[in-house]
Amino acid sequence: MPTYKAPVSDTVFLLNDVFNYANYANAPGFSEAPIDIVEAVLSEGAKFVEEVVQPLNRVGDIEGCKRHDDGSVTTPKGFKEAYKALVDGGWVGLAGDPAYGGQGLPLFLAVLFSEYGYGANIAFSMYPGLTNGAVAALTVHGSDELKARYLPKMTTGEWTGTMCLTEPHCGTDLGLIKTRAVPEPDGSYAITGQKIFISAGEHDLADNIVHLVLARIEGAPAGVKGISLFLVPKFLPSADGGVGERNGVMCGSIEHKMGIHGNTTAVLNFDGAKGWLVGEQHRGLPAMFVMMNGARLGVAVQGLGISEVAYQNAAAYAKDRRQGRSLKGPVEPDKPADLLLVHPDVRRMLLEVRAFNEGARALLVWIALTQDEARHAPDDKARQAADDRLGLMTPVLKGVFTDCGFANAVKAQQVLGGHGYITEWGMEQFVRDARITMIYEGANGIQALDLVGRKLPKDGGRAATAFFGEISGFLAENKEDAALAPYLAPLKGVVGQLQQATMWLMQNATKNPDNAGAASTDYMHLFGLTALGYMWARIVRAVLARQAAGTSNEALDAKLALAKFYNARMLPEGGAHLARIASGAETLMALPAAAF
Ligand SMILES: Cc1cc2nc3c(=O)[nH]c(=O)nc-3n(C[C@H](O)[C@H](O)[C@H](O)COP(=O)(O)OP(=O)(O)OC[C@H]3O[C@@H](n4cnc5c(N)ncnc54)[C@H](O)[C@@H]3O)c2cc1C
Repeated sequence: MPTYKAPVSDTVFLLNDVFNYANYANAPGFSEAPIDIVEAVLSEGAKFVEEVVQPLNRVGDIEGCKRHDDGSVTTPKGFKEAYKALVDGGWVGLAGDPAYGGQGLPLFLAVLFSEYGYGANIAFSMYPGLTNGAVAALTVHGSDELKARYLPKMTTGEWTGTMCLTEPHCGTDLGLIKTRAVPEPDGSYAITGQKIFISAGEHDLADNIVHLVLARIEGAPAGVKGISLFLVPKFLPSADGGVGERNGVMCGSIEHKMGIHGNTTAVLNFDGAKGWLVGEQHRGLPAMFVMMNGARLGVAVQGLGISEVAYQNAAAYAKDRRQGRSLKGPVEPDKPADLLLVHPDVRRMLLEVRAFNEGARALLVWIALTQDEARHAPDDKARQAADDRLGLMTPVLKGVFTDCGFANAVKAQQVLGGHGYITEWGMEQFVRDARITMIYEGANGIQALDLVGRKLPKDGGRAATAFFGEISGFLAENKEDAALAPYLAPLKGVVGQLQQATMWLMQNATKNPDNAGAASTDYMHLFGLTALGYMWARIVRAVLARQAAGTSNEALDAKLALAKFYNARMLPEGGAHLARIASGAETLMALPAAAF
């Protein structure tokens, strides 16, 4: 049976040593969370997910969700009780507005806690994840009346939320949405249509489910400019704020799927269901993007969470399983064989996963702190800079963390050999669960296009320029540091490759737009490789500072070893990405359609 230990000490090290959390302590938005509170919340949260959420991961996979003839859905055994404990413990509303029953803590804390939830049990943790996304969209775009009616129940998690975009004929291309909204005399709308693949679309965890639905008001312009956003509850609220009459939305079926069995994937039929406009008419997509951007980061965290739990279990196995002898001769001659860990290739797999995890966690901490700065920084310029970074990095995190999360789950599975393929060890579940993260919330190909086509050129390339400026500032600031120098040279190299790739895109994408599409996935991964390289350099600087101050321990030594590994064995991928980018679209587009 797999186990999971939330990496609290790493998160705290990153906050304190790498990102100097003390500097944030009095900044707007952070004052409610001094470091002792942050540590206490993360430790308690870790305990909760380890004791309550993780033990349900396997049963969730085996039992899955069950739909009954009346359209209701039962979640796996234990989910309901665990969800109640999550709500009662105030975990869903950790960063929620206290005016609506939230804990009022900074958003970064909820994001960092969510890594533990996803590492423990992705299917379970999607229920609160989606709810928080819906709360964010309603907070920004909902009317005062909608907020007053729904946010108190949703912030605490008593009612859950969904996002309803996908229809049978449209996934990526939301301009094709057909679901209709007809205005009613009382100011509401009658919503009719079918949504498919709706995560958490029906379940027994909460008294009510609040769907955020994209639909087209009759007579609206075609395409994405004619889409509006509606709030459609499963039950209409009663006068006292409880649950009233059943609304016209039913779960027609649930999908049987590769992974995340404990999370319902529902077909929802809206049959004249009562809904209320969220935000302005025909401006539904920008309103939904509040939820989608948060959800994209949430899915990125799912990739990291799975990669971490897969690593932990593979490392434990490699420290226990004995096969073969070290190439240099027996390490433990008195035993029948040496541990798997003596083999360089087994170490390669483990270290690739771990070096990713710890670099990616640093990047997550940085971007999670940036989210709070984008909301609360006192001056416009700082808010804008934070918002730019967030926008630029969202597709990078979503695409890279989930591509790597899946690849890492496979690598960790490989460490167990045939046992990794066998259900009882749990590794094959990680692989199956990780796979969806590359697809939903905008398939990763779409994230790459978003980066190259929208985020890079936006505002004259302001966000990308700031990113390059940040790294060159770091390199300049530390150029006299002899101990750090060997770690900075590889970073300089990969930054140079990313700059060349960016230049190549600027020169070649307008000439032939297929060049941008052809380069996009490699560019996204080159960006991620560079961002993680920058994180490793910052980690090393923090470790060297600690060591210079007299601290010596294995954890610090391990960080330096991992940084060296990352630079020597993972950064060289940058060259391959650059070569593929610079080869352009020609070889991809040469084969005529009929030849496929
Ligand atoms: C388990 C599960 C849960 C889900 N949860 C939700 C949910 O809660 N709410 C919701 O609304 N949806 C949900 N979805 C739907 C999911 O977001 C879509 O499946 C996804 O957006 C891709 O859409 P599609 O499946 O129609 O693929 P398509 O849009 O048909 O795309 C197929 C492939 O073509 C590529 N592609 C498409 N268009 C382009 C283009 N213009 N340029 C380059 N490449 C392109 C894509 O990257 C993809 O690889 C869920 C799906 C699953 C399987």
